Amino acid sequence: QQETQEKTAMSESKQADSQQLQTVLRLDQVRKSYGSNAVLRGISFQVRAHETVALLGPSGSGKSTLMKCINLLEEVNDGQIWLGDTDITNPTVNRDHCRSRIGVVFQQFNLFPHMNVLKNVTLGAIKVHNMPKDEANDKALELLDRIGMRAKASSYPDQLSGGQQQRVAIVRALMCDPELLLLDEITSALDPMLVGEVLEMVAELKTKGTTILMATHEMSFAHDAADRIVLLLNGKIAENGSPREVMDESQNPQTIEFFSHFR
Ligand code: ADP
Ligand code: MG
Repeated sequence: QQETQEKTAMSESKQADSQQLQTVLRLDQVRKSYGSNAVLRGISFQVRAHETVALLGPSGSGKSTLMKCINLLEEVNDGQIWLGDTDITNPTVNRDHCRSRIGVVFQQFNLFPHMNVLKNVTLGAIKVHNMPKDEANDKALELLDRIGMRAKASSYPDQLSGGQQQRVAIVRALMCDPELLLLDEITSALDPMLVGEVLEMVAELKTKGTTILMATHEMSFAHDAADRIVLLLNGKIAENGSPREVMDESQNPQTIEFFSHFR
């Protein structure tokens, strides 16, 4: 019995720990329409420090729109988005500064074809975020080294595979030590053979404690690697829970229908 009590005490303290984890991102009743198309109809959820949250939903359900609102590429119509203690939807906020706190990678490789890898990785940090050039170069080489791509620093994007390009794009997103990493279907345009190496890199970042919000259709990765699943259906959050709760145990007919397409 004592053992049981100890176990209970331990799991309670674990719970207390997780409740103390800082909220990195908080969406509160976010609404976004394009004309009469109400894409986001009151979205609320949080991402806590060191969490990997998978944002799932059918094509056209608003995952990218949500990502763009968080990255201030789109303006919300209503509701708030908090990054740490900053309401980034407040019109008086310094948008560039907010953006520098978030790393973003999109589906299409956004590397500049006429610049080598090192230039691609350091450009934004130097020009937009005023990082000294030497510091940016050192940091870029160190990050490239970690993914075994230091030798490619002077290669051009078209000399790399799609998977390598996408990993370079992730490195670039990490240059300013973002509080949050947004990954928007970063493997969707890849040859299936190259998906694994990119997902492995995401899993590696997760073990390092990076806070990640990723829109994806990679269901087995979401199931095995995400801490939490947020499912977007018809402009609303249909589910927000552990992979097991959402993907295996949900009784919501819409949820079951959605996941049936991936079996
Ligand atoms: P997802 O990323 O989940 O596939 P999107 O966020 O790209 O979904 O799109 C959600 C909806 O918003 C779609 O109906 C799409 O046509 C619409 N939409 C997205 N971007 C724009 C835009 N810039 N102007 C008008 N409609 C848009
Ligand atoms: Mg999208």
